[in-house]
Amino acid sequence: MWGRKHSDEQKARWSESRRGSNAGAANPNHGRFGPEHPAFGRVVSPETRALLSEQKMGEKNPNFGKSASADTRAKMSAARKGKPMPSSRRSAHTRHHTNKGVVSDACQYCIDDNSEE
Ligand SMILES: [Zn+2]
Repeated sequence: MWGRKHSDEQKARWSESRRGSNAGAANPNHGRFGPEHPAFGRVVSPETRALLSEQKMGEKNPNFGKSASADTRAKMSAARKGKPMPSSRRSAHTRHHTNKGVVSDACQYCIDDNSEE
């Protein structure tokens, strides 16, 4: 095979036969979270983060310009039914206080954050 190239047809056949072979339960890391996952605790450099971010922004995002169908929206809604949103006081604090630069006297996390400084 040295110096020769596989034909596009052959490459397409291989691509098709591999499709999904590493997805879902077939992936050796399927269902492994936290310390179980081999990438747990991995720190990515700011340069790599910027690169990864760049690759997923705007038109390069697979969901760019798409909106979920009524069917999909109904499914997502049903899956969330009964779950309090935000999922925790901590999440609410991050979303409504930290991210917006707001400090609330009634919020335990705002009080904790202030007392640390
Ligand atoms: Zn808060």
